[in-house]
Amino acid sequence: MKNFIDLHLHLDGSLPYSTVKKLMKAHNFPSLTETQLKEKLSVSKECANLQEYLTKFDFPLLFLQTKKDLEVAIFDLLKSLRSQGLVYTEIRFAPQLHTQKNLTQEEAVRACIAGLEKFYKWQDEQQDNSYPLHANLILCLMRLPNREQENSLTVRLAAKYDQHHVVGIDLAGPEGPIPNKAFRPFFKDAKALHIPFTIHAGEAAGPESMQEALDLGTKRIGHGIRCLESEQMVQYLVDHNITLECCATSNLNTKIFKKIDSYPLKTLLSKKIKATLNCDNMTVSNTNLPKEFKLLESKTGLTKLDEHQLLLNSINAAFASDQEKNRLLTIFS
Ligand SMILES: [Zn+2]
Repeated sequence: MKNFIDLHLHLDGSLPYSTVKKLMKAHNFPSLTETQLKEKLSVSKECANLQEYLTKFDFPLLFLQTKKDLEVAIFDLLKSLRSQGLVYTEIRFAPQLHTQKNLTQEEAVRACIAGLEKFYKWQDEQQDNSYPLHANLILCLMRLPNREQENSLTVRLAAKYDQHHVVGIDLAGPEGPIPNKAFRPFFKDAKALHIPFTIHAGEAAGPESMQEALDLGTKRIGHGIRCLESEQMVQYLVDHNITLECCATSNLNTKIFKKIDSYPLKTLLSKKIKATLNCDNMTVSNTNLPKEFKLLESKTGLTKLDEHQLLLNSINAAFASDQEKNRLLTIFS
């Protein structure tokens, strides 16, 4: 089996269908036909933009509001990723989106850690000779109005649980209405607390949004694919060793690109930008990492050498320990 690394994967957008059905049942939610469920969880070819894409998170979030829900969700997702050949992943979620039924942010974080540890236990009992999947968690701040208290608590939780599988923070949510620079205080705190971070930028907005994220001190950018609109930005990324967490199908869904044939991952690599390939949201985008690699191989001529470079870039940029990075280097050597 081929092995993969995913650094940009959202929990709520990547729940296996079987897990959603299981959670719906547990919450006595009326069952839906396959077509109805697909409409709720995944985008169609007609998806107009990022705003519409983001509406696909509403339904799964209904079933991610208790400790048990989150534990099951992480456990099932990791099992599914392992079966695809993943050996390392960073799963992100926003604790503040899991408080609709009075769960605290901290309880949400602890439930996800419990799910992860349960998965490790299960994995230890497996008798196959595949490489184990190791996972860490990234806590997302939300780019929404009036979330100062919630975002500030998320930063504190990332610091509190940094020895317990939480490895960093992210800024997620609609790009554009609120500029990245408005979140400076949170990233200043993160820096003071030595919390690594990544920021969604260069997706719905262009290089100016990326520059704001970079000015906050990020070394990783979620997407960043629109850097190619500015030669200056390309040079900045190369000079400062910035990693881009590229997500091809997701970028097609949100209409940044019309066709996969024109997805410029090879261009980024040829310009010596530290690009990586990730899923973003497996369920929303109807994809997985083996599919993404295959798609880019067949449609853009991505070579084995390119793929090796992408994986090395992922290892270098991972918010993982040196020991974990060495393990990954051995797997991909
Ligand atoms: Zn994302």
